[in-house]
This record gives sequence, C-alpha cells and structure tokens, in this order.
Amino acid sequence: MRFTGKVAIVTGAGTGIGQAIAIAFAQEGASVVVDYVGDPSAAAQTLEKIAQLPHAGPDAGQAIAIAADISKPDDVARLFSQTLEKFGRLDILVNNAGIEKKYAFVDYPFEEWSKIVAVNLGGTFLCSQAAARQFIAQNGNLAKDQSASPEKVLQPSGGRIINISSIHEDLAFPLNAPYATTKGGIRMLMRTMAVELAPHQITVNNIGPGAIYTPIDADVEADPKFEAALMAEIPMGRWGKPEEVASLALFLASPEASYITGSTHFIDGAMLRQAGSL
Ligand code: NAD
Repeated sequence: MRFTGKVAIVTGAGTGIGQAIAIAFAQEGASVVVDYVGDPSAAAQTLEKIAQLPHAGPDAGQAIAIAADISKPDDVARLFSQTLEKFGRLDILVNNAGIEKKYAFVDYPFEEWSKIVAVNLGGTFLCSQAAARQFIAQNGNLAKDQSASPEKVLQPSGGRIINISSIHEDLAFPLNAPYATTKGGIRMLMRTMAVELAPHQITVNNIGPGAIYTPIDADVEADPKFEAALMAEIPMGRWGKPEEVASLALFLASPEASYITGSTHFIDGAMLRQAGSL
C-alpha cells in the first residue's frame, strides 16, 4: 500500500500496459482514474479487476473511468476537472495511450500521420501540461520546504509524470514512420519538461518498452513466422508482460525514485542492446 492517499491518472487504461499500470497503482492503495476512448467495456473490465483486488479496506483507493480522447484539448480539460472534482488532488500522470498504423513511408497518408501525431505526441503534451499546472498549484512552496530539510532522505514528491514511450524513440521502425517520430518526440518533450519542472520537485521520465504482449501487437501475435522472427531479435527470447512494465511505473512514481528525472528507462529483454550476428 505504498500509494495510499495518492491519485493517479492513467491514459488508455482499458487495455494492455495501461490496464496493468492502473491495476498496479490500485493494488498499492492509490485512487486511479482509468482514461479511455470509445467503447466503455474495456475500461469497465479494468474497474472490475480493480474491484476484485484483495485490498479492500479503509486505506484502499477508488477507481473511476472517464472517457476522454487525449488528442482533444476539451476532453483533456474535462479529464482533469472530473478527476479533481472526484478526488481533490493529483499526484501521478501516466501518459500511456498510443496508436500505430503500418504503411510504407512513400504511401503514408497524411491524415493517418496527423492522427498518430495528435494522439501520441499532442495527447502527451496536453495531459502533461494539465498535470504540471495542477502539481504546481497544489504544492505551493514545496521546493522551498525541501531545501530547508536536506537531512530527509526520501523527499516529498512534487508530482510524477511517466510517459510510456518505446524502444522506437531510439530505434527506426520501418512501416511506422509517424509512430517512431512521435516516440522520438516524446523523448525530447520528457527531457525538456524534466528541466523546466525540476524546481517544483516534479519528476518526468519515460518508460521505453520493447515487445510487450498486448493488443497493439495483434498482427505479430497472429503470425507465427513473424513472431518467431521477432523473438529471435530479443536476447531474452520472449515477450515482456504488461505487469513487468507496471512494476517499473510503480518504482518511478515511488518516493524511492525522488531524484530520478529526465531519463528513458528501457524495458526490453536487451532487445536494444543485441549484437545481431556478431
Ligand atoms: P493497446 O492498444 O492495448 O493500448 C493503447 C490504449 O490507448 C488503448 O486502450 C486505446 O484505446 C487507447 N487510446 C488510443 N487512442 C486514444 C486516445 N486518443 N485517447 C485515449 N486513449 C486512447 O496497446 P499497449 O501495448 O498497451 O500500448 C500502450 C502504450 O505502450 C502505447 O503508447 C504504446 O505505443 C506503448 N508501447 C507498447 C509496446 C508493446 O509492445 N505492446 C511497445 C512499446 C511501447
């Protein structure tokens, strides 16, 4: 119950990695906002799984679902106002929602490019800005208080922003030009936010997953040859699990990570470091 009394928003939390992160925070006592877009049944499933956690009791947080398309400024404003209405504060934002679509670069429709940029990069910008404004407003002169107590080892948090980026913020992604571009953009957005928000004791970090078994990779999962080729690229020889990504998100949001900011933390079974046939 490390996150009792904390409030977290997780975007795109009806499926995959976002769902695992929402459940992990709830399991540790946080109140969680499950953001979703479209069909509410997936978000309802996340809430159901949280309700089944064996942590009921006075310290347990609650979970609610809010429909908000993160690429739309009005939706994002409502996501944050409804969160504050319900829980009165915000401590953690996980920018998880993301989309991809495959086309050869020479055939890539500009409309699809624009949509992916608007969700992956625009949505991360909009949600992070709203979160940072709230963190600064609610934390008052936290930065000043901290310098007055340097003997404290675990510093109070001014807020945490965690972006689910990808190994493709570093690695080219043939047939996915806008996806790789947005993940590279999230790297520089994260680094810049980390510097600007550091005086407020707000940390900003990226998690860069490799191949994690979720609906976004349905095409690979459905094709045994494609899947075998992918597994051959991963030194650990297996998919990662959404829960493994969630463990890293919990750590980056924890008091133990209070001085970690401005970095990407890859979680990829050494995929980025593999030496191929060497
Ligand atoms: P997923 O498709 O299950 O999750 C993406 C979620 O985002 C879905 O629930 C979807 O409904 C939601 N979403 C899409 N557009 C949205 C919008 N406009 N507003 C709000 N929500 C929206 O796949 P996943 O693998 O769980 O992906 C989660 C994140 O992890 C993504 O950012 C993805 O790029 C990243 N990632 C995944 C992998 C992997 O191998 N699975 C690897 C690297 C990075």
